Amino acid sequence: MCRIFGIQLAVHVSFLLLLAWFAYVGWREGGMVGAGWSLLLVTAFFGCVVLHELGHSLTAMRYGVRVPRILLMPIGGMAEFDRLPRRPLAEFLITAAGPAVNFALVALLLPFVWTDLWSTEPVPAHGLRDLLLSLAGANAVMGIFNLLPVFPMDGGRILRALLASRLPYLRATYWASLVGRVLALVFAAVAAFEYGNYLLSFLFVFIYFAGDAEYRQVLAREREAAYWAERARLAAMAPGPDDGPPPPPLIYHGRN
Ligand SMILES: [Zn+2]
Repeated sequence: MCRIFGIQLAVHVSFLLLLAWFAYVGWREGGMVGAGWSLLLVTAFFGCVVLHELGHSLTAMRYGVRVPRILLMPIGGMAEFDRLPRRPLAEFLITAAGPAVNFALVALLLPFVWTDLWSTEPVPAHGLRDLLLSLAGANAVMGIFNLLPVFPMDGGRILRALLASRLPYLRATYWASLVGRVLALVFAAVAAFEYGNYLLSFLFVFIYFAGDAEYRQVLAREREAAYWAERARLAAMAPGPDDGPPPPPLIYHGRN
C-alpha cells in the first residue's frame, strides 16, 4: 500500500465488501451515477478517517512514538503505536487531535454547505453539494461519537488522561474502563431497543469487550513491570547473569 509521513496505509480485505455494499446501495438509488457518487462519498469519508488517524499519529510522533501503520477497516480506522506515552498531557493531546481534525474539517466545509443547511429545499441528489453536505455531517458525527467517554474510544482515553493526572495510571485505566463499560452497555441497549439499530448496538458490545481487554492488558503490563523491577532489585543485590526485560508488546490505539 502507500505511505504517508512514513506511515504505512493499509486497507483490511473486508473493506472491499464495504465498497461493494455502498456501490450496490448507490446503484439501487440512482443507477450508475448513484453507484459512482456513493463510491466517491465512501472514499472521501474514509479519507477523513485517515486524516483523523493522522491527527493522532502526527501528534504521537512529536512525542517520539513510532507509528508503523494506519489500518482502515469497515468499522473505522486504527493507528498502531509502538507504545503510548504515560504522561497524561501527552495522551490527552494525542487523543484529542483526532476529533479535533474532524471539527476542523466541519469548519472548512461549513461555508460551502451553510445555505443548504438552512434551506428547506432538498439538495439535488448525487451532486457536489449533496457530497459536501454528507461529508460535513459525517465529520460532525465522527467527532462527537468518538468523544463519548467510552474507553477505549477517544473520549474514554481523554477521561483516562484526566484521571491519570490525579490517580496512578492503572487506577485511572480501571475507572475509565468501568465508566466506559457501563456506558457501552447503556448505549448498546438504547441503540437496540429505542432505535432498533442493531449494528450500532453490536458496535457498543464490541467496544465493551475492547475496553475490558485493554484494561487487562494494562494490568498485565503493570504486573510484568513489577516483576522485572523486583528481579532487577534482586539482581542488584546478588550480581549474576541478566537476560534483561522483554520488549514491550505492541499497543493498539483502539477504534477511532
Ligand atoms: Zn480517534
